[in-house]
Amino acid sequence: SKGVMAGKRGLIMGVANDRSIAWGIARAVADQGAELAFTYQGEALEKRVRPLAASIGAKLVVPCDVSTDASIDSAFAEVEKSWGGLDFVVHAIAFSDKDELKGKYLSTSRANFALTLDISCYSFTAVAQRAVPLMKNGGSLLTLSYYGAERVMPHYNVMGVAKAALEASVRYLAADLGEQNIRVNAISAGPIKTLAASGIGDFRYILRWNELNSPLKRNVTTEQVGGAGLYLLSDLSSGVTGEVHHVDSGYHLVGMLRTESAPE
Ligand code: NAD
Repeated sequence: SKGVMAGKRGLIMGVANDRSIAWGIARAVADQGAELAFTYQGEALEKRVRPLAASIGAKLVVPCDVSTDASIDSAFAEVEKSWGGLDFVVHAIAFSDKDELKGKYLSTSRANFALTLDISCYSFTAVAQRAVPLMKNGGSLLTLSYYGAERVMPHYNVMGVAKAALEASVRYLAADLGEQNIRVNAISAGPIKTLAASGIGDFRYILRWNELNSPLKRNVTTEQVGGAGLYLLSDLSSGVTGEVHHVDSGYHLVGMLRTESAPE
């Protein structure tokens, strides 16, 4: 097949449905000739992921709950058995107790702090540990972050702390893996209405705020995140590692936008 991803094989982790960011990235790289495998978390999501995978000709669809090493081990064992190698991984996974994605960060419990950091941050490192031995010709690892890592956003709370740690882990992994020609990057996506996002308090207001206050005056789509994912997963970005790339209509650069009618 043709395209910038021709001959490349990648594992997509984090598709829940056709609105998932992981699915937007999957479509973008599949369009450019990548061969894909997918993981799903649990039987309920298997019913969603299998037809999506089939629609782009992906045959390898395996369970993976990143909360246990054994589950990650078996997912990567399946990939190794079928393919023998791997060129890229998309990690689009996060979780926190919904009750702590509203109100104040101050209320974060010890148990949910540990759970959120485990699923939303450590899992990327755990995945990298299994992916690296399969990336014999180098590779690209990609995760998803959010501006709440850098600045306080309402209700993002412990997830903001987890994303800050995730962005730091992108830099440490990039330093560790550069010698093996494995690149490690993140996309910091603007708010998008997905299953995970619906757990965040006042999410519709956050979407509206970004639309009104970003330079491009619109929200981003999973297709736009997919385009950036294609770049970071392909050889087009062969000089790029340890980067957190914003796909947020420019929201991250705004201190305050000029208004046509500032009050006197
Ligand atoms: P989504 O609900 O479609 O995807 C989240 C995925 O995480 C699901 O597929 C779910 O199965 C998976 N997951 C959660 N716990 C897991 C576990 N223990 N094991 C395996 N998988 C698990 O939502 P999304 O918005 O596409 O989220 C993808 C990534 O993008 C997340 O890291 C999220 O924080 C990030 N992100 C989202 C937005 C947004 O506004 N939607 C913005 C920036 C970053």
